[in-house]
Amino acid sequence: MISSNITIGKNGHLYFGGQDTVHLAQQYSTPLYVMDEERIRENMRTYIRAFADHFGPEAIPCYASKANCFKRIYEIAHEEGMDIDVVSSGEIYTAYKANYPLAHAWFHSNNKTEEDIRFAMYHGVGHFVADSVEELDAIEAIAAQMGIVQKILLRLTPGIDPHTYEAVNTGRVDSKFGIAIETGQAWQAVRHALSLPHIFLDGFHCHVGSMVFGEDVYLRASEIMLDFVAKCRAAFGCALQFLDLGGGYGVRYVESDGRVDIYSAVGELAKHMKAYCAKIDTPLPIVTMEPGRSIVADAGMTLYTVGSVKKIPGYKNYTSIDGGMTDNPRYALYRSRYSVYHANRPSAQADFVSDLVGRCCESDDIIQPHISLPEPKRGDIIAVATTGAYNYSMASNYNRIPRPAMVLVTPERCCLAVRRETLEDLLSNDL
Ligand SMILES: *Cc1c(COP(=O)(O)O)cnc(C)c1O
Repeated sequence: MISSNITIGKNGHLYFGGQDTVHLAQQYSTPLYVMDEERIRENMRTYIRAFADHFGPEAIPCYASKANCFKRIYEIAHEEGMDIDVVSSGEIYTAYKANYPLAHAWFHSNNKTEEDIRFAMYHGVGHFVADSVEELDAIEAIAAQMGIVQKILLRLTPGIDPHTYEAVNTGRVDSKFGIAIETGQAWQAVRHALSLPHIFLDGFHCHVGSMVFGEDVYLRASEIMLDFVAKCRAAFGCALQFLDLGGGYGVRYVESDGRVDIYSAVGELAKHMKAYCAKIDTPLPIVTMEPGRSIVADAGMTLYTVGSVKKIPGYKNYTSIDGGMTDNPRYALYRSRYSVYHANRPSAQADFVSDLVGRCCESDDIIQPHISLPEPKRGDIIAVATTGAYNYSMASNYNRIPRPAMVLVTPERCCLAVRRETLEDLLSNDL
């Protein structure tokens, strides 16, 4: 099994987070997102403990809520003491409705609209992460109208290519995100931010990419960022107390993927940064990071019911399920890999090779090509593991397919976190 929260029960069924997945499928219907609440909490605690132990109690990691955003997860983040990243009014509103204290929220995105900025300030979002000089001016103007001073970080690009997938490379100089240090534009932006009376520049942010396994990416990024912090402190006399190194530790989707020990990776990073700060003679900022995927990915599983099993002799086989790219677009977008299980008979001989495909009118509607399973038949339950990140949050209504329900499980109980969309929901905006 790809993750330790996936087990086989005494009845031979696949269990996830201590619950029988076949029963979950019967009870809640499919497609169904299942989230293991204990695993979400464990992952959050690992980061919180790692940052507290290695960087000190003020260093609080943030959950990047774009990975999976629903009300209950903000309640969990609040209970665990984790800050949050938000990227839109929609995420801010969800957190607000979950009574999340928004002073602990950090507002990202490379193009915040006037409405977003106003909405975030109205709700008292603690920090904005500003992405451009135009945005600084927009934040300044709205903060002035509202009579507040808005704390911000500036998002910078350290110019690092983490050698992950192109679509998730964001720390390079030519990125759409952030302001480049190398070109001198970051320096100009700092100078500009410091001249604005309704903005308080509280530090810097960078995000080098997603699915990062080699921690030297963060070591190199931290050096470039610390050099820049030291240079700005010397030139402008500002404290720049926060340094946010972004998100991005990788997770295991398939057996051949690496494994990151988050606690020791953060420990290594802290050791390196402390030594580097001593070398360049600048105090260590309050360091933070914003993991999304590594908080929720392995806490999620999607359950589907098999429809047709199509065999084309001499060519290939298809196993069609009752979901697809509408609930998981990641294969279509990134050619992402997944581990797939037969939930009714996970330990039977996996000798049937097929492409696991969805029900959308699109040939790239593939969850995973070329998988080996015990031969499925109509009505069987198929489980796709590690779907807790960027599945529900990227889901769509293409083909007018309602979005699945999400159930939050512990070994003791199951609780619906998001109800299944109805046909009426699909029509709710049509006039
Ligand atoms: C996407 C993103 C994250 C989270 O990345 P993961 O790979 O999910 O950990 C964090 N910060 C920023 C700015 C992002 O864009």
